[in-house]
Amino acid sequence: MKDFNPNRYAVIEEKNPREIVMLRGLGCTWRRCRFCDYHLDSAGDQTANFALNQRQLEKVTGIHGRLEVINSGSFVDLDEQTVALIQQTCLKKNIRQAHFECHWRHRDEIADFRKRFAEHGIELKIKTGVETFNSLFRESYLDKGITADSPEEIAKYFDEVCLLQGIPGQTAESMDSDIQTGLKHFERVCVNIMQENDRPVKPDPKVIQIFSKELYPKYIHNCRVDILMENTAFGVGGVVTHAK
Ligand code: SF4
Repeated sequence: MKDFNPNRYAVIEEKNPREIVMLRGLGCTWRRCRFCDYHLDSAGDQTANFALNQRQLEKVTGIHGRLEVINSGSFVDLDEQTVALIQQTCLKKNIRQAHFECHWRHRDEIADFRKRFAEHGIELKIKTGVETFNSLFRESYLDKGITADSPEEIAKYFDEVCLLQGIPGQTAESMDSDIQTGLKHFERVCVNIMQENDRPVKPDPKVIQIFSKELYPKYIHNCRVDILMENTAFGVGGVVTHAK
């Protein structure tokens, strides 16, 4: 884990208003995506993780009735005490919708997780990082670890997608096509603009310029599209790159 002390709680006021907490768990078990150091925010000490997570969850007020939980991996990487506390917090603060992240490899664990929360009247929205629907590019260049080619198959499990844009090889057409595909098959799309880190895939300034000129104005007012020009745009995070 990198030595850093990011902000881990924020309130998002625009587009799908919600509170967001960045919790800590064991970390992503895939860890192979060639653009990501996000998984470095993790620790093997689940007691310490729970203590940290408890401090963040105490800040949740329920102001918007929705909570997004991110944790540098998938919800399965959180300890059981933390999951139970999220559930209790939702009930106590009258939060009826919670968002979690999940990698494709844990897709078969989603149904039971949804059921667990649904039994308490809490609807789950599960977000996954697809990055692009061009599966050949995604798997050969980004090493994302998604074995499905079609958006329909991914949408059987997931409600929301993250896309990674601003990297070499992308064009206005390819980025637009990915956003359109995301909007067609999923409830919400979150576009993460690539930011430099120590991993091999680097941001492409020309592609980011194209995004800013052609796609940002087209989608910035779309209430189903979040655009993160910087990885701290939701008010949480600090050093690591969000790309889950
Ligand atoms: S992008 Fe997500 S799945 Fe890929 S290594 Fe990072 S945390 Fe893991």
